[in-house]
Amino acid sequence: MTHDPTCIFCKIARGEIPAKKVYEDDKVFAINDINPLAPVHILIVPTAHVPTLMDLPDNQFDLVGHVFRVAAQLAKERGIAAQGFKVFHNVNDWGGQRVFHMHFHLIGGKKFNE
Ligand code: 5GP
Ligand code: ZN
Repeated sequence: MTHDPTCIFCKIARGEIPAKKVYEDDKVFAINDINPLAPVHILIVPTAHVPTLMDLPDNQFDLVGHVFRVAAQLAKERGIAAQGFKVFHNVNDWGGQRVFHMHFHLIGGKKFNE
């Protein structure tokens, strides 16, 4: 699978940096964010190294649907589904992206005002 040896999420994916995976399948893994914005803050990370949504090949957009399916499952498991939560993906500098290995944030467990 495509990877970048300098990328932090590739290192986590390959076990080169220890991190507790809270979910894993053949396409994505999930970890708790190191700097959580809410009581629940999980990163859902496609295992293959794709820097941003803009780099995802046209024939691989089913991966995004899969990520949302995993997000729904994790939200249900964490008991945040009924009250509500957010799923978001930051793209490039103005979008607030800091780690250039595509990932989706699942945040919940508090009420967001925007
Ligand atoms: P971005 O701003 O790129 O959308 O989000 C990157 C996220 O990754 C941030 O919320 C940041 O706290 C988180 N993060 C950065 N490095 C690590 C790490 O080594 N481990 C974990 N678990 N989260 C990280
Ligand atoms: Zn990577």
